[in-house]
Amino acid sequence: MTHSRFTTATVTCPQCGKTFEARRWRTLVVEENHEAAAAASEGNLTTVKCPHCSAEVELEYPFVLVSTVRRAILHYLPSSADELNEKTIRPYLEDDLHLADAIADSSGVRGEPFTLRFTAQMSDFIEKLMILADGLDDRVVELMKHVAREHGRAAGMPIDHVRYYREGERQLVLAYDDKTELLGAQDFDRAMHDRVKASISNLPEGMIVDGKWAAEVFAGLTAEAH
Ligand SMILES: [Zn+2]
Repeated sequence: MTHSRFTTATVTCPQCGKTFEARRWRTLVVEENHEAAAAASEGNLTTVKCPHCSAEVELEYPFVLVSTVRRAILHYLPSSADELNEKTIRPYLEDDLHLADAIADSSGVRGEPFTLRFTAQMSDFIEKLMILADGLDDRVVELMKHVAREHGRAAGMPIDHVRYYREGERQLVLAYDDKTELLGAQDFDRAMHDRVKASISNLPEGMIVDGKWAAEVFAGLTAEAH
């Protein structure tokens, strides 16, 4: 039994005006659709090609990606960061529980629970996928990013945001300004990731794990240490 779901939509090409049928994903299980999963990791899952004029058409819509191996359910809900909050994600949670149960039932084993995450920006979604593929804990990565951002700012760098990135075998934290110009790169220390993870006994869970989450958790951890 497969758990991936999609519908077919009629799309009108903005370039040539002709219509065509295109797949619209609702649930993409990585292990069932390697090609679509590869497109998702490049941020191209919702991009379709017009068969008449070859124009690339971006169909922005929400979808959910599931990895049964990594036990993760990752939502992409295109919206502004402010619109993504506890209240707006609530309607999805019940479906996620059903999906996790159905996957557990069909595999015949009730393994570890699924990690649920919600993202509003495609760049955040792609970053989460990369972190997941690399077998890292995104909560620890966000805390490490937070520290890198604060250190950079304290040194006078106009950092707007930082990103986890992998280039070949090399793992990096990249710092950008508010125009997304690259300000600097720092090697990401996996050993430190493992040490941080081991040192925090009750790392809080969260379904929206982003820079704001990290800043709040970091403040809590620092207060505890004093
Ligand atoms: Zn066209």
